[in-house]
Amino acid sequence: MQRLKINIQGVVQGVGFRPFVYRLANELDLKGRVGNSPQGVQIDLEGDNENLEKFLNRLESDKPPLASINSTEIDRLEEIIGYKDFTVRTSDNNGDKSALVLPDTATCHDCLSEIFDPTDRRHRYPFTNCTNCGPRYSIIHTLPYDRANTTMQIFPMCKKCRDEYEDPANRRFHAQPNACPECGPHLELWDKSGKVLAMHDDALLAACETIRQGKIVALKGLGGFQLLVDARDDHAVRRLRKRKNREEKPFALMYPSLDNAAIDCDITSVEKNLLLSPQSPIVLLQKLNNNTNLADNVAPDNPYLGVMLPYTPLHYLLMHELQFPVIATSGNLSDEPICIDEHEALHRLKNIADLYLVHNRPIARQVDDSVVRVMNGSAMVVRNARGYAPTPVELMGSVASTLAVGAHLKNSVAIARGNFAFAGQHIGDLETTEAFEAMKKTTVSLSKIYDFKQEAVVCDLHPDYLSTRFAENSGLPIRKVQHHLAHVLSCMADNKISEPVLGVSWDGTGLGPDKTVWGGEFIAVDGRAAERVAHLRLFPLPGGDKAVKEPRRTALGLLYEIYGSDIFGMDELAPLRAFEKPEIAILQKALENKINTPLTSSTGRLFDAVSSILGICHISRYEGQAAMMLEYAGNSKATEQRYHYEIHNDKSKFIIDWEPMIREILRDCRGKISPGRIASRFQNTLADIILSVCNSIGQENIVLTGGCFQNKYLTEKTISRLESAGFKPYRHHRIPPNDGGIALGQIIAAAGEMEIEI
Ligand code: ZN
Ligand code: ZN
Ligand code: FE
Repeated sequence: MQRLKINIQGVVQGVGFRPFVYRLANELDLKGRVGNSPQGVQIDLEGDNENLEKFLNRLESDKPPLASINSTEIDRLEEIIGYKDFTVRTSDNNGDKSALVLPDTATCHDCLSEIFDPTDRRHRYPFTNCTNCGPRYSIIHTLPYDRANTTMQIFPMCKKCRDEYEDPANRRFHAQPNACPECGPHLELWDKSGKVLAMHDDALLAACETIRQGKIVALKGLGGFQLLVDARDDHAVRRLRKRKNREEKPFALMYPSLDNAAIDCDITSVEKNLLLSPQSPIVLLQKLNNNTNLADNVAPDNPYLGVMLPYTPLHYLLMHELQFPVIATSGNLSDEPICIDEHEALHRLKNIADLYLVHNRPIARQVDDSVVRVMNGSAMVVRNARGYAPTPVELMGSVASTLAVGAHLKNSVAIARGNFAFAGQHIGDLETTEAFEAMKKTTVSLSKIYDFKQEAVVCDLHPDYLSTRFAENSGLPIRKVQHHLAHVLSCMADNKISEPVLGVSWDGTGLGPDKTVWGGEFIAVDGRAAERVAHLRLFPLPGGDKAVKEPRRTALGLLYEIYGSDIFGMDELAPLRAFEKPEIAILQKALENKINTPLTSSTGRLFDAVSSILGICHISRYEGQAAMMLEYAGNSKATEQRYHYEIHNDKSKFIIDWEPMIREILRDCRGKISPGRIASRFQNTLADIILSVCNSIGQENIVLTGGCFQNKYLTEKTISRLESAGFKPYRHHRIPPNDGGIALGQIIAAAGEMEIEI
């Protein structure tokens, strides 16, 4: 007879771990107790030695599908209690809250069969879930994960649900959001004034009819509102674009099934697995040319479609009824965060939605749909939200309780304590009061889950970001971290690698300590030191922020850097032709007198400039459009050709001179070489530049980070060239390469007390 005390940490709460332990213990004739604690799961176990050994082995091998174990601590105790049975204890509220919160998980097969089984008591019930699936992060207020600590606390369970919940042999044993038509949340269909038009299944069926008629339905989903319209209906899509104030940015789609999605898209096996995974993200899929199913304005001029499959019973029921793809875009005005409350939605979406399909299960926090792109055979999360967030990241060292507030665009926040950081979900661009409020709320709610008291705060160097001002006003000790260093550190953490590395930190914008706009940086990280070892040659951005929205301005700035005022006589150039004459005169003055023409070394802006020079995009209707369209233009043209460039040595730093390349691009334009071919050569040149700098620096581990590495062509090309030259390139996987990853990078910089030298 032996007694063990076992403490398990990891994803072990709300995943059916205790019932699994219960069954295993009973099977092996072991006695004792299992319970959740804020740190994880605790087991007190008595029995003979052989069975205890078996138990420990099967703990890892037989664990439930959603569980993952980070650590198992085992103490052998002298004192034998003599337990008569094995029981499951309710939660213990004491101690440090470090258990991992599970993300929301797509509906499992067992729940699905019940929903579509006419004899089941949950037949067509949109809030069906079990320990293997359902809402988690979107309903939890605080750890431990118990019903009383979730938004389900307002629904007392009926006798049948309670029996399931208390039966360790049941799939719904301690399934915190457990519910049924009798005791759980229900659907209502509202008109624009909030009047109830229909309830329950009638509400769902009427909403489907509304969508069939080409109208816009605002759906209260899992982590917020979505706007749904028939994706085959040009008029409906146009109306949605107009009302949402979203001119060209692609809309995400929900298809009724994988087979149905395969009519419009090329789906690889990796992409298929992602679509069907418990995370169920939006996956960027290559459009098939023969597609006739969809309206043209779903994703104008875009060879990719953002596609997801149903992931809640509510979505399954809707899509089962409709049997055609719908646009499922976030319920907001452009640039605002998504709505999570039905009364707020009535007000905020009043000029967009025709009807509201809502329910009375409160959403604890906004959780958008995640977006994933597959590159060299595996996933890269480009928007970290539902299914993935909050993302636990193990740190190399230990930190004080630190809050990181991220950057400006694609903002997300992160918290860290001890050896763990938790990267929060995508919030949005901090351009509106709503987004800023959402950011503040997320810091509070993330802190509340973990009972986390902030002791320090980290933010960007940029003084004007709302996130920076928030940090400055927090009254906490503050550390400011340079943007591109944060990118590099986030990618290192994502890949669990430590320094020394050479980071290639390429994006649109980030303030450097020298007050220029960085974005084409090479940063060597060694120990606590980070050094900017190379960057692109600077060029002026006429109008500053205005140039970000107008690639034609950026092109003018870039060309002015080469040709000076002569450029204003070169009327045949596409960027010049994209302006009205009087506007050009103003820009000429500004450039000549250096008025509001900040200098930049940004690769993102170089993409913009070339995009405009090639006539692909002169004005970006959404962030990153010009660069994205350039990527797509070049994508299909297989060529290894590249342009010339020079690398100068300037005071122990390398300056990458793009001038020869731009001159050759202009020559190719005059030579009527196709924009697609030039775009490919341009991107090949960038990969070549990275290889050259890596050769000059001689560091083996190369970290590719920043928004530019959402570009599949550039990323795959760079990785293959680096690998053939013997380098070890790393790209992002779970943490976005764009500014959504900045908060995590800020945490790492704070933990390592890192500073950048220029
Ligand atoms: Zn389930
Ligand atoms: Zn019930
Ligand atoms: Fe960035």
